[in-house]
Amino acid sequence: MVLEAKFEELWRLFNEKVSEKHPVFQAAKIAEETGEAIGLVFKLVGFRREKYELEAVREKLSSELSDIVITAFICARVCGINLWKAVDKKLDAEIRRWREYNKPSL
Ligand SMILES: [Mg+2]
Repeated sequence: MVLEAKFEELWRLFNEKVSEKHPVFQAAKIAEETGEAIGLVFKLVGFRREKYELEAVREKLSSELSDIVITAFICARVCGINLWKAVDKKLDAEIRRWREYNKPSL
């Protein structure tokens, strides 16, 4: 199953099985997943005073970053937004901005 079809299947199941689809709850889920990812980035760069295996942290971080994308997708759907269309438009704008950007010379 290609990625977009998997997202559609996830939405179909979510829509069928979750009765309460409040946008604020879905937005909070993005924040929750973002917090988890930030904690792991802190670990990755050594901001935590504890011992851990970097590859394990990287693996967990990849999972949390995926959660951010998934919760953003669900939040968008609950809010009646086509995320693919929005991301496509935003990517064009970001690419244009970076192409036009010149590093300031000091
Ligand atoms: Mg998570």
